[in-house]
Amino acid sequence: MTARDPVADLRRIAFLLERANEATYRVRAFRSAANTLSGMPPTEVAERARAGKLTELTGVGDVTARCVVESLAGEEPVYLRRLVATEGTDLDAAATALRTALRGDCHTHSDWSDGGSPIEEMALAAVELGHEYLVLTDHSPRLKVARGLTADRLRKQLDHVAAVNEALPKGFRILTGIEVDILADGSLDQDEELLARLDVVVGSVHSGLNDDRAKMTRRMLAAIANPHLDILGHCTGRMVASRPAGVKGPGDRAHRPRTRAESDFDADAVFAACAEHGVAVEINSRPERQDPPKRLIRRALEAGCRFAINTDAHAPGQLDWQRFGCERAALCGVPADRVVNTWKADRLVRWATTRR
Ligand SMILES: [Zn+2]
Ligand SMILES: [Zn+2]
Repeated sequence: MTARDPVADLRRIAFLLERANEATYRVRAFRSAANTLSGMPPTEVAERARAGKLTELTGVGDVTARCVVESLAGEEPVYLRRLVATEGTDLDAAATALRTALRGDCHTHSDWSDGGSPIEEMALAAVELGHEYLVLTDHSPRLKVARGLTADRLRKQLDHVAAVNEALPKGFRILTGIEVDILADGSLDQDEELLARLDVVVGSVHSGLNDDRAKMTRRMLAAIANPHLDILGHCTGRMVASRPAGVKGPGDRAHRPRTRAESDFDADAVFAACAEHGVAVEINSRPERQDPPKRLIRRALEAGCRFAINTDAHAPGQLDWQRFGCERAALCGVPADRVVNTWKADRLVRWATTRR
């Protein structure tokens, strides 16, 4: 294939990002990479791309370097392809359509762990929102700060959920689940026998978020290969300070924003494994998480992954935050048929349990 012009591709990406009103720093990343490369002889750019030395240049990072390599190989850069794919679509309408397609939420907490409300109240709020199901995913034992459930308490919770379900309106049901910690060696923090009984298992990294790249990648790959894992929760662990207008919570004056950088891992390896093992990548809607960042959502989409657009609600009102995740998914061109919580409860549970 004949090489494309990498500088033109970078500038086109910057233009499309700007027009989509994306963060200035991201636009700047593409423009400064374009400027650096435009001042160099094309043969040197090609040489550096071959040697993997583009990122040694000022203004060229991993994402922009990857675009350059793809351009030089004669391919339209993935990043550009995704932007072009969503170009001209009415994002507001796309986000609304996605939100309307969602039938439930696969990541929620009750006062059995660190949530603020009883299971019944979470369920009633979900009914009000028009959901057909709510997957209850309280924390696992090692997350002591969040009162993670021991095997015994989880067993009690399962009995309790069965009783609550009896009293809920027909056509709605609480599905059983867990947000299980992905431990340092990639194993899951709950008894196998219990994980096998649950309808849906979300697994997340909550500790050792600064593990080095190789260690974090190994850890995540081990968890993804575990047949009990169905959904990979907030995969980068990042915390951002910004939140949509009108949304209160951690990050307002009373609670100083806690920002946290993304964990470092080989995203291509992780998403390829998710696609291979049929693990869905969560799009976490919490305003202070917005995890994964859009560039990674685009990469997961390219890798063929399924997604779950979840709220990670710790209170009933937060169940309405799914809209934020839908907006981010729409910006990345995620189609509804890739999102597991657009499925009916029976199909979701069948998918989750037959994978084991
Ligand atoms: Zn979590
Ligand atoms: Zn959670």
